[in-house]
Amino acid sequence: MPLRAFIDEQEVLAPLISDGDWEALKLQRNKQVCLPCCGADGYLRTSKQSTKHFVHKHKTGCDWKPETWQHLLAKTEILRVCQRLGYDAKTEVAGSDWRADVLATKPGKQGLIQIAFEVQWSPQTKEVTQDRQAKYKRDGIRGCWFFQRPPESDVSHDLPIFKLILRWIGS
Ligand SMILES: [Zn+2]
Repeated sequence: MPLRAFIDEQEVLAPLISDGDWEALKLQRNKQVCLPCCGADGYLRTSKQSTKHFVHKHKTGCDWKPETWQHLLAKTEILRVCQRLGYDAKTEVAGSDWRADVLATKPGKQGLIQIAFEVQWSPQTKEVTQDRQAKYKRDGIRGCWFFQRPPESDVSHDLPIFKLILRWIGS
C-alpha cells in the first residue's frame, strides 16, 4: 500500500504526518485523495501496527499488490531515517522500468546522490536482484536491499544486501 498520496493536490508522506493530524485528515471526507501510482482515488488507513498508509478506494487497473505490515513498517522507518539524515526522501518513486520503495536524494560534490531502498519480503532470486540493481545503476542510482530472506549472493559494494528482522511488540 502506498505511503504517498496527493491530498487536494498537495503531496503527503503518511509517515511524516503527526498522529493527531492524520486522524483529523481522516475525518475530512471532502478532501480529494489521489494515489500517484495510477491516479485513482484513495483513502487513509492506519494498520494494527499504527502504520499510516493509503489504500485504493476501488479495484482499479493498478498492479499494486497488498503489502505486509513488515513492508509498510520498513518503508516508514527508512523514510524517517533518510529525512533525519538530511535526504529528500519519498516513497514509491517510479522510473522508466523500476519503482523504488524509498528514493532518497541529496546534492553531492559530484552531482545528485540518489539511493533507492528496496524492502523485499517475498523471496527474490539473486538473478532478479542483480537485474533490478542493474536498472538502478544505469540510471545513476545506488540500490540498497533489505531482505527477509536474502538470496544466496555475494554481497558487495555494488550490491548491498541486508537481512531485516522486524518484530511487532505493540498491543
Ligand atoms: Zn494505484
